[in-house]
Amino acid sequence: MDCYSKGGERRTSFEAITLKYSIGRPDRVYAFVSVAILIGFVFFVFRPSYAFEKQQVTSFLENDESVSILKGASYFWDETNNVTADKIVAQRASFQWRNSPKKSLNLFYSDDTLWLSFFVISTSRNMRMIVLEIDWPFIDNIELYRVDNDRLAVRQGMQGDHVLTHDRPLKNRAYIFPQNLESQKQVEFLMKITTSSLILLPIELWDADAYWENETATQTLLSLFFGLVIVMGIYNFGVWFYTRDVSYLYYSIFVAFVSLYEASITGYGFQYLWLDSAWLNDHALVLFAGLSFLVGALFVDAFLGLEEANPIMHKAIGFLVILYAAFILFSFFVGEVYVAPLGQYMGLLLSAGTIVLSAHEWHKGNVAARYFTVAWFVLLLGTSVYTLMLAGHIPHTIFTESVQRVGISLEVLLLSFALGDRFNRQRQMAKQATDISLHLATELNRSHEEKIRIQAQAQQGLEDKVEQRTEELREAKKRLELLSITDQLTELKNRRCFDDCYTSEYKRAFRSRSSIAVMMIDIDHFKRVNDTYGHLVGDECIRRVAQAIHIHSQRPGDMAFRYGGEEFVVLLTDTDCGGSGNVAQLIRQEVERIQYQYNGAVVGLSVSIGIATTIPSDEVSEKNVLQQADDALYQAKKNGRNRVEVA
Ligand code: GH3
Ligand code: MG
Ligand code: MG
Repeated sequence: MDCYSKGGERRTSFEAITLKYSIGRPDRVYAFVSVAILIGFVFFVFRPSYAFEKQQVTSFLENDESVSILKGASYFWDETNNVTADKIVAQRASFQWRNSPKKSLNLFYSDDTLWLSFFVISTSRNMRMIVLEIDWPFIDNIELYRVDNDRLAVRQGMQGDHVLTHDRPLKNRAYIFPQNLESQKQVEFLMKITTSSLILLPIELWDADAYWENETATQTLLSLFFGLVIVMGIYNFGVWFYTRDVSYLYYSIFVAFVSLYEASITGYGFQYLWLDSAWLNDHALVLFAGLSFLVGALFVDAFLGLEEANPIMHKAIGFLVILYAAFILFSFFVGEVYVAPLGQYMGLLLSAGTIVLSAHEWHKGNVAARYFTVAWFVLLLGTSVYTLMLAGHIPHTIFTESVQRVGISLEVLLLSFALGDRFNRQRQMAKQATDISLHLATELNRSHEEKIRIQAQAQQGLEDKVEQRTEELREAKKRLELLSITDQLTELKNRRCFDDCYTSEYKRAFRSRSSIAVMMIDIDHFKRVNDTYGHLVGDECIRRVAQAIHIHSQRPGDMAFRYGGEEFVVLLTDTDCGGSGNVAQLIRQEVERIQYQYNGAVVGLSVSIGIATTIPSDEVSEKNVLQQADDALYQAKKNGRNRVEVA
């Protein structure tokens, strides 16, 4: 599905580029991550505990904007859960006090009540308005007591997600207690904390004006953060809606859960989204962190196309998803006290695993994994620092608190780039495919045209052949026809031809009222020639006489025929008596001139000619005219031969 090649099957240029930018051997990354996780667990097992020294007083100087009261704070655990503030004031020494660490108080999960004690003195010359802030929204119940001049503990208000908004003195995303500090007067505070959630106590004492300035800036930054992730989520949801590429859907859901996770951790969730639902707020951290990782895992699977690219990892991710689902359900029934620490380390494990996996995919040539590796690395970094901070291994500072948020922002952006990159790659592949199919279509078209051309050529060849054959047949027919009307011996037209021609010429003359002459020619004493010289000589004589006739019957309209035996007929159209007589004399003389020698002797030849001339009319039939010519011939024979007689 992606631009992905298995193993070394297809080493392309982009694969080479990929290798060039590869961050290192994945097994090295794996080893590094494993060691990091191991160290994390060691830290977890040997968590620090804090011994008690002398209680200090927190000084709030004239120019201080904020101070952490933890520097001088001390605390103890009330396992009975029934100690009161007044009792503490009265019998302070009877409790097991410990010093708070200087920078943050991370006490993990506990069912016991936590009591915190701290002293504050203001160096200002005037009365000072201050704000006590606890920026951790999951604490169930916080009560602040101020010990007054008569050594009585006076409750200053309640905060926490188990306190209804209605009962809270000031509604803000972080829990705050506004107080007055008189000049140079030490004030003792007690704080009672009960919660089933992680106890993380970033307690700051703020100058009221400075607090609100800082809070405005923080909220602006948080708004930008939420704006970024929400827009990314919605945008990618839109992309999914139109492309139906499931990666985008997982991505937008992932971003949604990450947003909810951040909303819960910053206190916005409790303030604006789930309002007074303490139940949801108690579970929000585990629920949304768990869901983020769950959907994140699905996203990793879809984005890297692991089902095809790496089936083992695909199965592993399926297993992880089920594990996370079980883990989330487990947290609802058993309580997050037991599952949250596990979840945190699982999250680290998943992030680390994802990096190893995507680095491996990157190394293998799955280009989509490039941004991905960097993105998850950034998130892992943020999450690791944050988790270590929550576990109490590193202090709670502005950096450790916001590093995960920065990590998430960068990750959200980088993953969006990764999706964009993949989209672009898919588009390029689609274009390539279009080009190829276009090329194929052109090729197909060309071969189709070639086929048609060849077919046409073949067709033309066939037609030519048929045409040629037809022409040949036509020629043959013509030859046959000619043969059928030609006399073999003399090559004059034969008797059959004469019959046809005579009838049609007669009719034509009839129509045009022109004269037609029929000339009957017979060789004289031919029997004698045959008898004297033989038939072969006779045949030759017939041929020579035919030539003589042919010589003088060549005008248009003259036609000579062999009528049969040694007799010939000549038709002369548009020829009157005189004209035909002249022609007859020419023929007769021509024959006379034939000097055919055979065996030293000259064979003397002569012809008798009878002519009949007429302008055809109803009275005279063509047969009559022929008969007249025959009669004239007979007359010529009778009158001594070698002569012309006209009917
Ligand atoms: P006349 O002057 O009266 O015509 O005398 P004749 O001998 O020519 O008489 P007739 O015309 O009756 O004779 C025709 C002879 O021509 C008969 C036949 O032997 C001969 N003859 C007819 N056809 C052929 C032919 O094709 N070849 C040859 N060698 N002789 C032929
Ligand atoms: Mg004859
Ligand atoms: Mg004769």
